[in-house]
Amino acid sequence: MRNKTVIVCAVICGVLFISAAVLVILQFADRTGEGIIITLDGVKIYEGAGTHTGETLYIDAQGKYGINHIRIDETGVCVERAGCPNGECVAMGYLKNRYLPIVCLPNKLVIQYADALAEDELDAISQ
Ligand SMILES: [Zn+2]
Repeated sequence: MRNKTVIVCAVICGVLFISAAVLVILQFADRTGEGIIITLDGVKIYEGAGTHTGETLYIDAQGKYGINHIRIDETGVCVERAGCPNGECVAMGYLKNRYLPIVCLPNKLVIQYADALAEDELDAISQ
């Protein structure tokens, strides 16, 4: 009886550990090379690769409070410089994962992974 309890506990611990490991891997998985979508005031201005292995790609997004200079290089996508007042979009650095898009609130700029957007749309439909 006691042995059975120990085995059940071990199995539960194992399952929990594997679940936690999978979550951590999903969170920190290398997502370079995946598609991204950039929207400005709700309008899609770029859809394509989130990394650029050749020449660095620059996209200028003209917002209400100045231009967001977006850079796509071999590391990923980031806002290099911005005319917005708070500069938080620049401070966010490279786009890291699907749960944390780069957002410039003053200019209404959003940079996110394409599959993250698809998931949001699914949520909107199911609600
Ligand atoms: Zn900004």
